[in-house]
Amino acid sequence: MKAGYIKEEHEILRKSLRQFLEKEAYPYFKEWEKQKAIPRSFWKKLGQQGYLCPWLDEEYGGFNADFGYSVIINEEMERVGTGLIGIGLHNDIVVPYLSAYGTEDQKKRWLSKCTTGECVTAIAMTEPGAGSDLAAVKTSAQKTEDHYILNGEKTFITNGTYADLVLVVCKTDPKASPAHKGISLIVVEKDTPGFTRGKQLEKVGLHSQDTSELIFEDAKVPTSNLLGKEGEGFYYLMNQLQQERLIVGIGAIAACERMLELTIQYVKERQAFGRSIASFQNTQFKLAEMQTEVEIGRTFLDRTIEAHMQAEDVVKQVSMAKWWTTELVKKVALECMQLHGGYGYMEEYEIARRFRDAPVTAIYAGTNEVMKSIIAKKMGLV
Ligand SMILES: Cc1cc2nc3c(=O)[nH]c(=O)nc-3n(C[C@H](O)[C@H](O)[C@H](O)COP(=O)(O)OP(=O)(O)OC[C@H]3O[C@@H](n4cnc5c(N)ncnc54)[C@H](O)[C@@H]3O)c2cc1C
Repeated sequence: MKAGYIKEEHEILRKSLRQFLEKEAYPYFKEWEKQKAIPRSFWKKLGQQGYLCPWLDEEYGGFNADFGYSVIINEEMERVGTGLIGIGLHNDIVVPYLSAYGTEDQKKRWLSKCTTGECVTAIAMTEPGAGSDLAAVKTSAQKTEDHYILNGEKTFITNGTYADLVLVVCKTDPKASPAHKGISLIVVEKDTPGFTRGKQLEKVGLHSQDTSELIFEDAKVPTSNLLGKEGEGFYYLMNQLQQERLIVGIGAIAACERMLELTIQYVKERQAFGRSIASFQNTQFKLAEMQTEVEIGRTFLDRTIEAHMQAEDVVKQVSMAKWWTTELVKKVALECMQLHGGYGYMEEYEIARRFRDAPVTAIYAGTNEVMKSIIAKKMGLV
């Protein structure tokens, strides 16, 4: 079943992007995983082809593309590997803040570079002592005449090592009550004095993706880098998290579809007891069950994407989609690995990497427990 939001132009995009990735990403992906980095030259090629923030206005290098383009770009990146998540984060999570809350001057300074790959972005919410409880962040921004002085530490930051511009969630009023009213968003540029990168973190999966600690020691940031208004940061985050969580759900279903494709091909080829693995009833039932669940997930996700594109408030549905699809991707990874037998545990087979990459989707962008708390609240239980 084709989703209602998919038009001919989206199909054309998918075809050309897949061809582009087959040439520019698939052959190099294992190398990027070893190097633990995606080369800037790849970002620049994405920019040249119009795959970075195509939803931006033409004056900033975009072409006012609808969210359907973002869906296709995220799906095709996921087909290569979840380790390309930093591109979706830049395109559909961080840059939207700059566009939604930036002044004309800020937009002129940053947005065009975000579409060319000259400027890679990151968002720094999480701290060693505060993840799910965002209002508890401690990074402070003290205002002087024309600067903010930032002090604090962030961790687990996607694109953290190579980002040129980091959107930092900090407290401009640490004494505010309730605490979330003291939160602001400040844009920190890479050469800011007092801003350094900590170590690049060793992860279970997503090896091509740089995930890092960031350190602010009296980092001196011009007051003109405040995004939106002081004290409004928490509300901006709440507004944008709907799309962030949707992006994770889109990736999860795309990963499920890829794993089923790989596994169906494998079980047809692999022989045991003189028959193909596919001919065993257990294999057929497992794959039939997974196919059913993935199609159910896809249908709900597509309906939620459509509502999001109509600017409906689908916080509840997005939270449902995020937890359900990311639990599903973990299950599909495990079952598909099992159907590959010993080969499934070998790095040579893509399913092994998928198995390492899947679990984090249930953790980042708000854990699945946090998703269920949001749903319960929307159900009037809290
Ligand atoms: C690979 C990776 C990339 C990431 N990228 C980014 C990024 O780019 N920017 C960024 O800011 N952050 C990023 N994160 C951080 C991520 O968003 C956090 O790890 C996540 O929000 C959870 O926070 P925490 O790790 O502090 O866990 P905690 O908040 O300490 O949670 C620990 C456990 O307790 C549970 N828990 C917490 N509160 C409740 C509650 N109220 N009810 C029930 N259970 C609860 C959680 O669900 C979890 O199971 C990334 C993380 C990873 C692993």
